[in-house]
Parts: sequence; structure tokens; C-alpha cells
Amino acid sequence: MSKVVKFGGSSLASAEQFRKVGKIIFEDEERKYVVPSAPGKRFAKDVKVTDMLYACYAKADAGEDFGLELDQIKERYEEIITGLGLDFDLDGEFAKIRECFEKKAGSDYAASRGEYLNGIIMAHYLDCEFVDAADVIFFNAAGEFDAQATNDALSRRLSGPGRAVVPGFYGSKPDGSVKTFSRGGSDITGSIVAKAVGADVYENWTDVSGFLIADPRIIKNPQGIDTITYRELRELSYMGATVLHEESIFPVRQEGIPINIRNTNAPQERGTWIVGSTCQKSKYVITGIAGKKGFCAINIEKDMMNAEIGFGRKVLQAFEENGISFEHVPSGIDTMTVFVHQDEFMHKEQKVVAGIHRLANPDSIDIESDLALIAVVGRGMKSTRGTAGRIFSALAHSNVNVRMIDQGSSELNIIIGVSDDDFETAIKAIYDIFVVTKL
Ligand code: ASP
Repeated sequence: MSKVVKFGGSSLASAEQFRKVGKIIFEDEERKYVVPSAPGKRFAKDVKVTDMLYACYAKADAGEDFGLELDQIKERYEEIITGLGLDFDLDGEFAKIRECFEKKAGSDYAASRGEYLNGIIMAHYLDCEFVDAADVIFFNAAGEFDAQATNDALSRRLSGPGRAVVPGFYGSKPDGSVKTFSRGGSDITGSIVAKAVGADVYENWTDVSGFLIADPRIIKNPQGIDTITYRELRELSYMGATVLHEESIFPVRQEGIPINIRNTNAPQERGTWIVGSTCQKSKYVITGIAGKKGFCAINIEKDMMNAEIGFGRKVLQAFEENGISFEHVPSGIDTMTVFVHQDEFMHKEQKVVAGIHRLANPDSIDIESDLALIAVVGRGMKSTRGTAGRIFSALAHSNVNVRMIDQGSSELNIIIGVSDDDFETAIKAIYDIFVVTKL
């Protein structure tokens, strides 16, 4: 049995946090592959080291003096090293970093040093091997992740019996330059490592005890989710859940490796298990509710639309030509609506409308803005009668006007469009009916 354990930035922000992490790792021999993030915030107004690195490099890139900024970053690491009572320093590493900044090694290189240096400290602390991610995680020349080459290199390199640390967030391109994943990408590294070593579980340690049924900024003390399937999570994550980078699901999902979200500050809690499939029923009919404000609906009408072959493709082509992805496309017999993110769409609006006219020749186009989409997700919905009825009567009782309904063909989710102003009320009403009153 082996486990990959990834620790987020807040779990590694200080020596005190490192100690908690050390305890978690040492108490289980199977926790063999360790993927650290860069030090995150120690308190609410603190700055993440990754952000400090980006800001520092921006100065270097502009030819300005960046000495002070780099020293402040060094202090963050020194505080951890002395706090842990370790006997080494990062002077040589920082001299190299300074040189590379002067040579303008790029902002990806700069940001990656956050994880790289934290990985070195972690390996010293655990007294185990350090594997530079640049040697085992690869991107092609175009900057796309190279899954096969990475998997081969990682599984070869990590085949030894001992513990190893692989820093998160970055890898390298064929020319040797460093490339990072998108922000929060250490989660992806953890997943890639788990796949390569054939881990039994990928533990993702953070500062919350897993996923909650609803956003705690809207629902006070919402219940946690014990078990969620990858598919359910996809339906919730693209609507805005923030605990886990959404791309980190794919490598482990292919291999059937479960992800366990755990809390470094409350390791006794079991957290949330993300699994391929499960016979465990969720506690409630719904597994979770998530949503997002700021959508636009473009309503397109044309008589006899239903009989015109290729109409939908032509409409969507206008969005594609302008580099806009759509969220949902509910349709009627002579109407079709395309939901898009308002901030992406706003400045291209007239180009898209002109494109639809040119390509699809509709009778009319009308645009609504400030809409919110809410996804109600649950594997339990399939086998429970009346779920939709309960949702809509709860919304009606709360005076929320439903602007759009879309039930996924998997019966795993129901998407509801409401106006931005009704967003919080709608989520409260749905949570209330399924979780609080369980009517
Ligand atoms: N340190 C990087 C970030 O802040 C990556 C990560 O923490 O996952 O985005």
C-alpha cells in the first residue's frame, strides 16, 4: 500500500504548520510520496510566497531593483528552517535564483521556486530524497502537459523503497525551461504522482475538512460531504467549488484511485472521499449545491428552427470564432438560448451578435444579463421521485423566479437559472428543503 500526500500552502506556511505535517506523515508509513505547495498565508492578510515571487520577478523583468523583495521571500523560508531547528541554509539556492531573475528566466521559473524551495526544506525535515519536478514532469514545446513521458519518468524515478518529496506546480519543457500548471496546480502534480506510482489513495491535505454541501458564505455551518463521485464533483466544481483544482481529477480518475480531502489542522476528521463509484448512499437526496453569478443568456429565435439542419452549429460557431465557451444551451422548438460568462462575453458582444446574424440568419436575438446558475447535484436524485418538484416548490415559496431549467441527461444534476439578486435566497431555499427540514 502506498499513499501520495499533497499539502497545500496554508499547511506549510510556517514551522508550526510543518510540524503538524511531519506528524501526519510519520504516523503512517504508507504516506510515502509527498507533494508540497509553496508557503501560503500564515494569517488572513498575509501574502502567499507564490504571489511574492510573481511580484518580485515583475520588478526584475522591468529592469528594476528586486533585492528587497527577494530578501523578504528568503526570510519566509528562513523562518521555517530555524523554527524547525534544521541545520542548513538556502543561500546558494537564492544566489542562483537572483542570477536567473537577472537573466530574465521567466515568470513560470520565478513562481515555481516557491514549491522547489519548500520541497528542499521538506526533504531535509523528513530526511528523505528530493526529486526536482523539472526532472520528472514534462510539457511539450507548445507548453502542453506530456502525460506519457511524465508517467514513464516518474514511475522509474519513484520506484525505490524510500520516501520521496516531489514539489508541486511545475515541470519542464524540452528546452529545459520551467513551466508551471495554472494557479493551484500542485493538486495536479499530486494526482500525476499518484497515477505514476499506482497509489492506493491520493490524500490532499488542506485547511478544511473536505467539501461542504453548500458555500459557507451563503449557508451558516453547512454539513460536510462524506463521499462524492468524480462525476458529481465535476458537476459541482465547474460551478465554482474551490477546494481542489478541477484538472487534478483526471489522472487519478482514469486509474480508479480515490482522493481523500483532509484537514491538516484537524487530522482526526475523515474528510471527503472522492471516488469512481460507490454503493454508499449520500446522507441526503442531494450531494451538493453550487452556483455562480454573472452569466448572460443570448436568446435566439427563428421560425421553424427545429427543422433547419445545422442551425445550432452555426450559432455556436459565432461563439467559437470569438473564443467564447458556453455553459449551457437549453432550447425550445423555435428558440435556443446560449449561457455564457458575462465578463468574457461583454466586450465581444456585438461581434458575436453580428456573427450569429451572418451565420444563422435568425429572426431575433435578445440578451439578458446578470443571471446566476445553480447546480443541484446528487447521485441519489436518479432513484428519488419528486426531487425537481421539491426544488421548484421551495423556490416558489421563497419568491424566486426560475428563469431556466436544465436537467442533465445523467439525472445527476439539475441546473437552475435565476437572477443574480435571487442567488443566495435560492441556495438557502434548496439547502433548507433537502438538508435542514428534509421534507
Ligand atoms: N503555489 C501555487 C499557487 O499559489 C500552486 C499551488 O499552491 O497549488 O497557485
